[in-house]
Amino acid sequence: MPANRSLALVVRTVDVFETSTVATLFTREMGKVAGLAKGARRLKSAFQGGLDLLGVSDIVLLPKASESLDLLTEAAPVERFPCLRRDLAALYAGYYIAELLTDLTDYHDPHPRLFDAARITLRHLGDAGLRPRRVLRFELACLREIGLMPTLDRCSQCGEPTTGGESVAFGPATGGTLCPACRPGQPHVATLARRTVDSVRALASPGDEWRNREMAGSDLASVRQAVGAVVSHVLGRRPRVWPYLGA
Ligand SMILES: [Zn+2]
Repeated sequence: MPANRSLALVVRTVDVFETSTVATLFTREMGKVAGLAKGARRLKSAFQGGLDLLGVSDIVLLPKASESLDLLTEAAPVERFPCLRRDLAALYAGYYIAELLTDLTDYHDPHPRLFDAARITLRHLGDAGLRPRRVLRFELACLREIGLMPTLDRCSQCGEPTTGGESVAFGPATGGTLCPACRPGQPHVATLARRTVDSVRALASPGDEWRNREMAGSDLASVRQAVGAVVSHVLGRRPRVWPYLGA
């Protein structure tokens, strides 16, 4: 089979044998892949920094027939994110990006827009003021890409508009907002303030509202909780990095 070249974000590495590494990569063109990099940990390896966690590299993957691992034959660093070295909070946010890409996407299922979103998010994680919003925006981009973005203006069950009223029922396990008729009997339903729903919508939308919108700490915490509940439901567990996010 022919070799595949792609830009890739390194999302996980595991040392194997004496000098080799198995790298999980979120590539722009092929989606998530895993490959064996032979001799990657030798002092003078061909991979020289190309498999550093949370770096973007230009990689070549040689698909293997049958059940053996694909082979990584090249990985050359293309972009590093200096804020991740300087700032522990930024680094943990970066780990969270990696966890979402690893655990929310399937192997060989390309999502180039998500790759681009991850790259832009990682570039800007050093900005402590906007970091929580950027992380939320990335979570919502993941949910949209995998087809699990919660509905915010319609009932997730019957499609009736849910845009009236000061608050609205929200089912993280049932696909979004719920009208009063559909709410009874649904599991894990929370009541969200209208401004929380509007903030989620702003964070999920293009344009600059996500950046400029007034959001008090308590608003942001409510958004964090609502989006986090959806992510946890999709993962089937709480994200591993959460205790370190300070969210
Ligand atoms: Zn309904």
